[in-house]
Amino acid sequence: MAKFQAPVQKNDYIDVTFEDLTHDGNGVAKVEGYPLFVPNALPGERGKIKVVKLNKGYGFGRLMEIYEESEYRVQPECPIYKECGGCQLQHLSYKGQLIAKEKQVRDVLERIGKLDNVVVHPVLGMDNPWRYRNKSQVPIGEREGGLIGGFYQQRSHDIIDMDACLIQHEQNDIVLRKVKEICGKYGVRAYNEQTHKGTLRHVMARNGQVTGEIMIVFITRTQEIPNVKKIIQEITKEIPGIKSIVQNINSKRTNVIFGEETKVLWGEDVIYDFIGDIKFAISARSFYQVNPEQTKVLYNKALEYADLSGEESVIDAYCGIGTISLFLAQKAKKVFGVEIVPEAIADAKRNAELNDMENAEFAVGEAETVIPKWYAQGNKADVLVVDPPRKGCDQALLDTIIKMKPKKVVYVSCNPATLARDLKILEDGGYKTIEVQPVDMFPQTNHVEAVARLELKL
Ligand code: SAH
Repeated sequence: MAKFQAPVQKNDYIDVTFEDLTHDGNGVAKVEGYPLFVPNALPGERGKIKVVKLNKGYGFGRLMEIYEESEYRVQPECPIYKECGGCQLQHLSYKGQLIAKEKQVRDVLERIGKLDNVVVHPVLGMDNPWRYRNKSQVPIGEREGGLIGGFYQQRSHDIIDMDACLIQHEQNDIVLRKVKEICGKYGVRAYNEQTHKGTLRHVMARNGQVTGEIMIVFITRTQEIPNVKKIIQEITKEIPGIKSIVQNINSKRTNVIFGEETKVLWGEDVIYDFIGDIKFAISARSFYQVNPEQTKVLYNKALEYADLSGEESVIDAYCGIGTISLFLAQKAKKVFGVEIVPEAIADAKRNAELNDMENAEFAVGEAETVIPKWYAQGNKADVLVVDPPRKGCDQALLDTIIKMKPKKVVYVSCNPATLARDLKILEDGGYKTIEVQPVDMFPQTNHVEAVARLELKL
């Protein structure tokens, strides 16, 4: 490797001022232009760091002492904040988090998207930014004969038992506690990664926050769960609101959580929930937004940006179980949803029926394959909505949008960096980004969601 010269040495102790916060929640200090990333430091703070690692263009430090604290620094609420790693911003007040997320979106749109004068609105946050998650998924381990479940200690696979998670709906905490207790009592062994023995790998609890319905998913190595009848009997007695108990079997040696086979052990194969006036059936394997209160805010913004009159044909790419599609179908002539997971499309069709919506159609496949096909067949949407995973839209899809020329594009994004990259491509292809609205779907964490409104330039 070529030698490089950093202005600091490893193990140096230096005094720095933090200028910025990275997308993963580290403070940034610069020494002669060389950035040092420091966990737990906040913009505006001054402190002493120890240099711990040097890379070619940047290094890492450890915060040893703070001389001047940020006005937004707070004591983290959660007693296991440091060990867990699930939240990254609890040491920053909620107001500070919203300011940081807005800045992050604006910076990345300017740096990667070259969108200098784009309007980025202040982040729409929550009144109460705690206890919002509707889904909890924990690895299971053993301690002194009992079952534990919680999270992996950072940079390891040692499980730390978690009694409560402050961003999780209370109901999910209660469900996980009961499941650990009941399964432990009936002799269910936790899966052991080293020996590839034992039964229970993960437990997922999901609730419908409007309906109160609960689903439990046991992810197991084996087909059999010892004493499963007694376990189910006790769970259904102890947990009011339980509607569905499902088993997913994953017999492989792998870090991937879910296996291929899913079967219902008790009750229904789905639970129901509402976003606004629309009812959704949610199955064990389907993607469903984890913060229902903010999902409504996000979808309403997408609907506002789509600005529908009732005459439009709309495409919803990456539609999941059809959540955004059905929101749009309330105001559009016709909506076409496309999604890669077959189970999600089955749910989407079921959801359209459940809400008596006959103007929504769904197709399984890659957005970048299906939409070009539709275009070739003459389906030219007036409005196109995309909500891709973190890696953003495929180039083939962006190329098709540019050729298809829908008057409006609404881009819902969970990753500002790929949003910026894709907006640049769409701008170069004839679109103008009118405004961007970040919505805080994941308070206390470093995740940022945003909706962008684009129009075809005349
Ligand atoms: N709009 C939905 C889902 C968004 S998450 C909602 O708000 O609930 C992104 C979705 O894209 C996931 O459901 C994922 O399965 C799907 N997906 C990932 N890659 C895809 C691709 N290449 N083509 C179509 N869908 C894809």
